[in-house]
Amino acid sequence: MVKVFIDPGHGGNDPGAVGHGLVEKNITLIIAQHLRDHLIKNYQDVSVRMSRNSDQSVSLVERTNNANQWGADLYLSIHVNAGGGHGFESFIYNGQFKNKSKTEQIRSKIHDTIVSNLNWRDRGKKQANFHVLRETRMSAVLTESGFIDHRDDANNLRNSDWLKTIAKNHADGVAHAFNLEKIVHQKIDDPFYRVVSGSFLAEKNARQKVETLKRQGYESYILPHAHQNERYYRVIVGAFRNKSNAEARVKALAQDGFESFIIEV
Ligand SMILES: [Zn+2]
Repeated sequence: MVKVFIDPGHGGNDPGAVGHGLVEKNITLIIAQHLRDHLIKNYQDVSVRMSRNSDQSVSLVERTNNANQWGADLYLSIHVNAGGGHGFESFIYNGQFKNKSKTEQIRSKIHDTIVSNLNWRDRGKKQANFHVLRETRMSAVLTESGFIDHRDDANNLRNSDWLKTIAKNHADGVAHAFNLEKIVHQKIDDPFYRVVSGSFLAEKNARQKVETLKRQGYESYILPHAHQNERYYRVIVGAFRNKSNAEARVKALAQDGFESFIIEV
């Protein structure tokens, strides 16, 4: 199980950078949410938590404490740049720390995936003394996806397809770095296991369940399911290649008061 902590930069009373009518905190949240969705829908044995799920103020200390307490494998902080320039760059901590070479490798895979697929101006693989990079006990990477105060970058950042593409490439880079296996959307010889917490006739109720789970720190998504001419909306709280990981998820959910069951796909 790979635990990915996604940190949309800024939020609440901290807008981050602004330019061309855009506000960094809103863009980072959109990218982070797409990134989360792409990871859990397309890759197996991955668990995601977010430092924030809405426009709220979360201190840097809260963010890193949260990731450290959870025992994340990767802290991925999403930002948008400002201050003259354009293109993409990424950061890891500039000090000495355990597993620095492993963090370099993870960062390289994420960085290279994004730059090559987006054909983006590469500003380089950088190091800095940022709180979220320094105070995290796991590998931590911070990305700066374009400049909000550069006209061309800002035009891209205004485009929701572009934000989705940025997010997808972050997710694919993470998958590459951690060798996550893709969920194949048809029956294959090797089964995998989905954990389902609720099956609803009304999509609205399924969405409510997703929100309730989110408040308890579980990321989930809705998958429609046809059964005896009825359309159900299943709430999926993870897909796992190893049944034991799926069982562990069911157990954790039960401890938090959620009933769930496993389906073999
Ligand atoms: Zn920022």
